[in-house]
Amino acid sequence: MNQSECHTIAFVGLGNMGGPMVENLLKAGFSVNVFDLVPELAKQLESVGAKAFSTLEAAVADVDAVMTMLPAGEHVRTVYLGDDHGAKGLLNLVQPGTFLIDSSTIEPDSAKLVAKEAAAKGLSFVDAPVSGGVAGAKAGTLTFIVGGTDQAFETSKQILAHMGKNIFHAGQAGDGQMAKICNNLLLGIIMSGTCEALSLGIDNGLNPEVLSNIMQQSSGRNWVLELYNPCPGVMESAPASNHYAPGFMSKLMSKDLGLGMQAAANSQSTVPMGALARNLYAFHNNNGNAELDFSSLFEYFRSERER
Ligand code: NAD
Repeated sequence: MNQSECHTIAFVGLGNMGGPMVENLLKAGFSVNVFDLVPELAKQLESVGAKAFSTLEAAVADVDAVMTMLPAGEHVRTVYLGDDHGAKGLLNLVQPGTFLIDSSTIEPDSAKLVAKEAAAKGLSFVDAPVSGGVAGAKAGTLTFIVGGTDQAFETSKQILAHMGKNIFHAGQAGDGQMAKICNNLLLGIIMSGTCEALSLGIDNGLNPEVLSNIMQQSSGRNWVLELYNPCPGVMESAPASNHYAPGFMSKLMSKDLGLGMQAAANSQSTVPMGALARNLYAFHNNNGNAELDFSSLFEYFRSERER
């Protein structure tokens, strides 16, 4: 498939990331079929030109490519491979030659399994998890981290380039997921550390905006301080200044840190910082914050102080 052959894309999973990604595909001139278990999410996208479908089967039946943006591995396996209750997976629903891209963050083994099953049916599949958050999805500046054959990588770029500005080839099937998991292990650690440092400063009389500016121009500089400050009121565009509306839900960060722990167990790697971040997020989520943005971990440090 080359771009002149790709006109119609089915997009499955229209949540915080999927919705804005669809809008960029529409802007680029693709015809986009949309499907989500929550039908209102598909309906909403009709106003910007997408075609809403009420079943997976109908959405993917006659398209050149399918893209999925689902919460976790179990959802991806169900959508591609079907379930125990007789629902068919999309590998059995698409036309021969349909190109398949999964941009969810999931365990590498599930990505490898889907790639293998797709290849057995003569279909090309890449794992292409993303970094850049909802702001990057809206702006079309996501980073895609692709795992798959050289040829599939080249093909995927023709679609991904309309939603992102950096497209990396991490390696073979599953390697995109592994690189993404390493990135999010680091992000969970950086968010935890940034919350801790800001909270320490506030406890000692510093203005969080002034402290953020200082650290941003000093050796503590990082992505969270630059684009995603967790302290309410410091950065107008950040979820922290909008009651921690996601964004990237805390439960999804927990999932990703769990994927990091699984990978570390497989390779016998030492991951003390990631393990601490995973525990902080597990505690935070179990206290009723799972659906808030992951920067709400800042409140954990503040509420510890108030006890
Ligand atoms: P989300 O929960 O907002 O959206 C997921 C959507 O998938 C939901 O609308 C849900 O109804 C739908 N869905 C679930 N099962 C389905 C099925 N069987 N068929 C059709 N639709 C189904 O999640 P999100 O924030 O958009 O994240 C999606 C993926 O991207 C996750 O793996 C996440 O870890 C990753 N990610 C998110 C961000 C972010 O900032 N939000 C950034 C990078 C990566």
